[in-house]
Amino acid sequence: MTRFVFITGGVVSSLGKGIASAALAALLQARGYKVRMRKLDPYLNVDPGTMSPYQHGEVFITDDGAETDLDLGHYERFTGVHASRADNTTTGRIYSDVIARERRGDYLGGTVQVIPHITDAIKDVVVTGTDDYDFVLVEIGGTVGDIESLPFLEAIRQLRNDLGHAQTMCVHLTLLPYIPAAGELKTKPTQHSVKELQNVGIQPQMLLCRSDRPIPENERRKIANFCNVRSEAVIAALDVDTIYACPISYHNEGMDQEVLRYFDLPYDSKPDLSRWEKIVHAIREPEGEVRVAIVGKYTALLDSYKSLAEALLHGGIANHVKVKLDWIESEEFEKNGNIAERLKDADAILVPGGFGERGAEGKIQAVRYARENNIPFLGICFGMQMAVVECARSLGGLPKASSTEFGPTDEPVVGLMTEWARGSELLRRREGGDLGGTMRLGAYPAKLVPGSRVAEIYGRTEIRERHRHRWEVNAHYKDRLEKTGLRFSGLSPDGVLPEVVEYPDHAWFVAVQYHPELLSKPFDPHPLFAGFIAAAVKEAHRK
Ligand code: GLN
Repeated sequence: MTRFVFITGGVVSSLGKGIASAALAALLQARGYKVRMRKLDPYLNVDPGTMSPYQHGEVFITDDGAETDLDLGHYERFTGVHASRADNTTTGRIYSDVIARERRGDYLGGTVQVIPHITDAIKDVVVTGTDDYDFVLVEIGGTVGDIESLPFLEAIRQLRNDLGHAQTMCVHLTLLPYIPAAGELKTKPTQHSVKELQNVGIQPQMLLCRSDRPIPENERRKIANFCNVRSEAVIAALDVDTIYACPISYHNEGMDQEVLRYFDLPYDSKPDLSRWEKIVHAIREPEGEVRVAIVGKYTALLDSYKSLAEALLHGGIANHVKVKLDWIESEEFEKNGNIAERLKDADAILVPGGFGERGAEGKIQAVRYARENNIPFLGICFGMQMAVVECARSLGGLPKASSTEFGPTDEPVVGLMTEWARGSELLRRREGGDLGGTMRLGAYPAKLVPGSRVAEIYGRTEIRERHRHRWEVNAHYKDRLEKTGLRFSGLSPDGVLPEVVEYPDHAWFVAVQYHPELLSKPFDPHPLFAGFIAAAVKEAHRK
């Protein structure tokens, strides 16, 4: 039997519903259950792919190439279960599917309505493909009370009846603000938020209450009474110093026990939380510290680099060090010419993914600084493209080298395949003759050159990594750039697309066309991040 846990949020946004859901999933996993996670987003965009990083934060890419909400990153990092396209749905996707069906005449002349047609479509996405799981956790984006999320809540309400109460549970995440003047945690916002849910026919079975201090017993009883839940089902979600402490903290508050009790499953035994204890210990008691400078351009909203920040933290766990992140807006270097001053304390430099010309020159300067000063460098996606441009300009005798992403250029060392591969011998080698031209999204295999640094880092020569980019390093420049000392150490299996470059003579300089941060887990740090931070540790000792 598959059990569904629906997770809603109330009072305010940004309470960490995604992490709370992921932590519950981790607890159920630690008890041996098979768990899948899903997210329903109430906005009208069909997916977040076209949204600005400032609006939405990171776009998380799945193996099957879906552009999804960043919470799916948390799900994967807490559970290790790889998400798929089916695990993130938006109002926009639901409506566009229903309207497409309407245009095809699938509704046979009927009036198409929110109830039942939209709600049926939502229920379909929730349950499809879940048979093999013990638990499916479904997070509803947004805050209860928003007009936008009503169809999702209605669908959940119906599912409770369709599947039965023994198979479904609703968990509501709220906030208990501490009011210093009154000297107490206030329960009224939680009461109001639960009333909002009750108004649409949903009675939560558990309240997860964000709070900066333990909930006194009388407050807990009060919440239980007013909100019509068991007092044991009022769980404190206490503030923690690291998100990876959430599973342990929730377990100590009795969350997983109460969920299992609700579903009539055994809950006396202790789950195996050793994985989380180890991670939390490594984070809380580091044996040293390194500074990593990240030269990007979405630094005004660090959610844009969510997986990257986590992967760097994982690299720190692997090396028992604290990783201090210094986020630098690359335009700063262009305007102030202060690169040496700004980067002098960095033990390692990273240029992450990005789009568009703004800030590109500053990123190129950062690559050059790292290369010339032998500072460990990791380039990711756009970061690799800029590393290649820098190499071509500084070492390859091509001062005009650039990416066609910024407009026409005499030396397109980075370009669209439709520009540089069309009609070339390379294309004949290309599997399926694929010219790209659209975004390369999702997991692709690559072959690493035996004996290269990157092959040594991975400990193998065949890898599969997730991509999200439209431009590619132009393979026609490979020979010319290799003469400068840059090594093309990873290629697509047909040998056409450059996927990894490195300078073998540098302390540690690796740039990759894919996004390794998307696959890193706290319990299984990605080898590139483990290696990068290890190089930073060496550099810190040298300094
Ligand atoms: N803008 C570049 C491209 O589309 C890089 C994208 C990225 O860094 N994710 O190819």
